[in-house]
Amino acid sequence: MYRLNEEQTALVEKARQIAADSIAPNANAVDAESRFPAEAVEALAKGGFLGLTIPTEYGGLGQGLRVAAAVLDEIAQVDASAAMVYLMHISACSCYVAYPASFEKILRDIAAGKHLTTLAWSERGSRSHFWAPVSQAVEEDGQLTLSATKSWVTSAGQADSYIVSTRTPGGTAATDTMLYVVYKDDPGFAISGPWNSLGMRGNGSSPMVLDKTIISADRAICAPSDGFRTMLEVVLPWFALGNSAVSVGLAEAATQATIKHLTGVGMQHLGNKLADFPTLRARLAQMRIETDKIRAHLVAVIDSVENPGPATTLYVLESKASAAEGAILVTDLGMKACGGAAFSKHLTIERNFRDARAASVMAPTTDVLWDFIGRALCGIDLF
Ligand SMILES: Cc1cc2nc3c(=O)[nH]c(=O)nc-3n(C[C@H](O)[C@H](O)[C@H](O)COP(=O)(O)OP(=O)(O)OC[C@H]3O[C@@H](n4cnc5c(N)ncnc54)[C@H](O)[C@@H]3O)c2cc1C
Repeated sequence: MYRLNEEQTALVEKARQIAADSIAPNANAVDAESRFPAEAVEALAKGGFLGLTIPTEYGGLGQGLRVAAAVLDEIAQVDASAAMVYLMHISACSCYVAYPASFEKILRDIAAGKHLTTLAWSERGSRSHFWAPVSQAVEEDGQLTLSATKSWVTSAGQADSYIVSTRTPGGTAATDTMLYVVYKDDPGFAISGPWNSLGMRGNGSSPMVLDKTIISADRAICAPSDGFRTMLEVVLPWFALGNSAVSVGLAEAATQATIKHLTGVGMQHLGNKLADFPTLRARLAQMRIETDKIRAHLVAVIDSVENPGPATTLYVLESKASAAEGAILVTDLGMKACGGAAFSKHLTIERNFRDARAASVMAPTTDVLWDFIGRALCGIDLF
């Protein structure tokens, strides 16, 4: 469905192989032990995939959203936690790619598989409204002091760099924001709690604190007060559509597991397979239709991003909401179609069901997206 050329197809096939060989075998342990998918990151780094979206002039693979989405879809089919770690990396990479002159070393390190990055946006004070951080940088003698309580940061403590949002020094409006790079060995950087969640258990999305972290002005990602625009125009398409791809991968995983179960087991006393029950086949059919729908929707929106029009941003928001809710529907149908077997951990469906719920509460949450889309349709300002 992604309509890839030969080179892109080869890359996605390579990602599928990495997923099968190095990510899938650890997925259950990553989930059960709530541990960071280090093997996945190592394998992706070794295969050049940390640099998937980094321009070739910095040693990267120079790919865009289409291939990134197809790769995320593949990884999410075997381990959504690893896919989410990778998605936050790709999303944060978009900042470095947008301002390459300032971040050449990081770009080269990422391309060489030596640097993992992520976004540290959500704050305890403004929760899922990431566009309005309540922390505020203080500028003095050309240096900046950052103090912030970040509530959830994927790959917290594992990533080498963090794109941190905060209000512009001296700014008064909630959306007068800046983005800065913080390194994990910066003084005042600390992970402030464990990660123990319903799903995405390998994601390491712990809370993080910056306690009077002093950085130089050249750590700014964008111009003063340009954080809000950068978040929405540079990062959001990568994050929102990448998140859709993770939801699509999860829906595909549940659909495939359901096919295998319905055709693999049956009732001895009736001499049949579960697939012989029309109700279960109908549930499976709904799963297939919904999964195809959200993947086709995602690809249509990627088409629009590649050839932008006035409605492109709206389409991007629609895709994240539709894929998140679609994956919840599909994984729920899988739970029903496969009965007690799905409730147990010997099928992947219960993990897919738990993991799929994350996208709906990841900002912009589905509720917020529905509100934004409704506002846009009614001509009401979004912010
Ligand atoms: C697996 C995972 C990984 C994450 N990784 C990161 C990361 O790497 N970096 C990062 O910055 N953040 C990350 N987050 C945080 C995420 O983006 C959200 O900020 C967080 O999930 C919001 O949770 P909350 O309890 O603060 O929600 P709240 O903001 O308290 O929302 C509670 C409920 O209110 C609803 N709501 C909020 N505003 C409105 C509104 N205007 N209209 C209608 N309903 C509304 C929400 O939809 C939600 O249902 C991650 C979250 C998860 C689950």
